[in-house]
Amino acid sequence: MTETTASEAAAAQAPLVVLSGVNKHFGALHVLQDIDLSITAGEVVVVIGPSGSGKSTLCRTINRLETIDSGTITIDGRPLPAEGRELARLRAEVGMVFQSFNLFAHRTVLENVVLAQVKVRKVPRAEAERTARDLLEQVGVGAQADKFPAQLSGGQQQRVAIARALAMKPKVMLFDEPTSALDPEMVNEVLEVMRRLAADGMTMVVVTHEMGFARSAANRVLFMADGRIVEENTPDAFFTSPRSDRAKDFLSKIL
Ligand code: ADP
Ligand code: MG
Repeated sequence: MTETTASEAAAAQAPLVVLSGVNKHFGALHVLQDIDLSITAGEVVVVIGPSGSGKSTLCRTINRLETIDSGTITIDGRPLPAEGRELARLRAEVGMVFQSFNLFAHRTVLENVVLAQVKVRKVPRAEAERTARDLLEQVGVGAQADKFPAQLSGGQQQRVAIARALAMKPKVMLFDEPTSALDPEMVNEVLEVMRRLAADGMTMVVVTHEMGFARSAANRVLFMADGRIVEENTPDAFFTSPRSDRAKDFLSKIL
């Protein structure tokens, strides 16, 4: 057995993503209000809440698709850089999967997973292709590698989008309603890939209305309303005994 030094042990427990006093406005709208959030490596955090509560904006600030007005965000101990190559590199460490799959329509499935590896991570093409084929296999679309996105079902496209994000070897994956645009029969194949990622130890932030997924895969549920984290708890505690009226009201409408 190798010895773990004290500093290694401390690093293993240091939070991977930390938001501290984060505020964000869109004009007069105070869309994120004093957000404090600390996510440990390997943790799966599910974010739920009514439409317009700031869930997407929260995700987008974590990989700097949105700037913040005040507060700090660190990924693995480093503050989010404002721009430039540093930002591109850091953003690559934060994978994001959107409701709309956002694949490049004029590139094959394989190219979709190869491109950013070559451009951002400077991986040699042959290696990038091997990685891409492996990942496509892992998410169950290996046979679709040479097709174009439009030839795939929504569920398959979303799994390609997940493979594409994973190809950047992210430290954390953000999912913003990844199954909301899918036909019902395709929801599970995507959730299954996400469950497997979670079981493999990926750190994940997942905005979703899939309460079954939240109950079974989340370590923690955050409930947002009006730009604030109103409540956070284990899924069991949250779903069986929500504390706030906002959460009770929300759950009564969706469960
Ligand atoms: P959610 O994902 O919880 O539905 P969002 O984070 O998308 O909420 O949006 C929160 C609020 O911010 C909403 O009122 C939305 O209309 C507003 N908003 C989101 N993006 C923008 C933007 N780029 N410009 C102005 N307002 C925005
Ligand atoms: Mg949203």
